[in-house]
Amino acid sequence: MLIAGAGMAGLCAAARARELGASPVVLEKGTRAGGSMLLSSGVVWRYRSFEEFRAQCPTGDERLQRLVFDRLDEGLEWLESLGAPVLERETGNPLTTGVRFDTPGLTEALVRAAGEVRFEQPVTVTVTVTGDPLVLATGGFHGDPELVARYVKPAAPLRVRANPWSAGDGLKLALARGAALSQGLDEFYGRNMADVEFGEHELVSLAQVFGRYARIFNDHGEEFFDHNAVSWSELDLVQATAHQPGARAWYLLDEEALDERVRYGTVRELVAQAPTRVDPADLPFTPPPRAVVGTRVAAAITHTIGGLRIDERARVLDGQREPIEGLYAAGVDAGGISSGGYASGLASALVLGLTAAETALS
Ligand SMILES: Cc1cc2nc3c(=O)[nH]c(=O)nc-3n(C[C@H](O)[C@H](O)[C@H](O)COP(=O)(O)OP(=O)(O)OC[C@H]3O[C@@H](n4cnc5c(N)ncnc54)[C@H](O)[C@@H]3O)c2cc1C
Repeated sequence: MLIAGAGMAGLCAAARARELGASPVVLEKGTRAGGSMLLSSGVVWRYRSFEEFRAQCPTGDERLQRLVFDRLDEGLEWLESLGAPVLERETGNPLTTGVRFDTPGLTEALVRAAGEVRFEQPVTVTVTVTGDPLVLATGGFHGDPELVARYVKPAAPLRVRANPWSAGDGLKLALARGAALSQGLDEFYGRNMADVEFGEHELVSLAQVFGRYARIFNDHGEEFFDHNAVSWSELDLVQATAHQPGARAWYLLDEEALDERVRYGTVRELVAQAPTRVDPADLPFTPPPRAVVGTRVAAAITHTIGGLRIDERARVLDGQREPIEGLYAAGVDAGGISSGGYASGLASALVLGLTAAETALS
């Protein structure tokens, strides 16, 4: 059994396959294991009720949502049983429940359980068909600007806030074998980041997740999003920003907004750290009357939401909705689970990784 990608989905698939008695080989394009999972906040979560999941992600594939919802708690216990270190047993969000893992520890535990991982070995369309099952877990296509331009259609290239290696290799391989695409191809998960170059260690600290307290303008001075309508995840705002000139925006804050609390402190503290902080008087348009400070943001992509169409056994489907022999997808490569909204990428990678291994070996 061959697994493409040593991130969350690929490592979970490999670890489960080994438990089931197989000897999987994981081919990893990058120089290290963990993919975006290693860089993430490590919160593996689901909505508290299935109805809430449907309401939050209304255009997502209901059968896949049911699978992720039903199997997540068992998956979390399994991760713990492998020795993955837990940091918190709550998400801090009343809508959701889940566990926060230490991501270096999670990666280590999964690599230990997965067995053989070969680095700098990208799986491409030319991979030889050996008759062995192939699990695609390459993390979607956020790292390929051309694919992002084709499917997501941002007004300008998006900054990448994730591992640099996920460039649609799984998608291209499966399409070459007749795979069908899921819904949600124009959607993505991301954050509006301070508009500066950033490194791996700033992916959380430079995320400006306080759009709901700001007045939001584009470069033409148009208020393009009503801050009262921003969703809890702020994903709708990030996606809307991607379609504004330059895929950028200005957040303008008054005194009251600065006192609001968000996950990592007050808005005042976050704005004080933002390297793109501006005096409203210096803006290229007339600011709203009570604004005392602004910050320049750029839409950044963490991962794509659309991808390959799969069934609830993680089998990649063709245009006739028939499974393609020996081909499975998990994690971000499998599309359409959270379209219309936002759900935990780590959760679907975990559950679909387990499912792909079980189906391939059944
Ligand atoms: C800053 C940040 C914070 C986040 N916080 C959270 C959070 O708290 N909760 C949550 O649920 N999600 C979070 N996420 C998202 C989460 O990390 C992803 O949803 C998850 O990692 C997806 O798993 P995956 O296996 O599909 O992709 P990844 O974990 O990215 O793994 C994909 C792997 O495939 C490899 N690869 C790519 N191409 C090839 C190829 N051709 N051949 C072989 N290997 C290849 C890549 O190098 C990578 O190692 C966050 C992400 C970031 C960046």
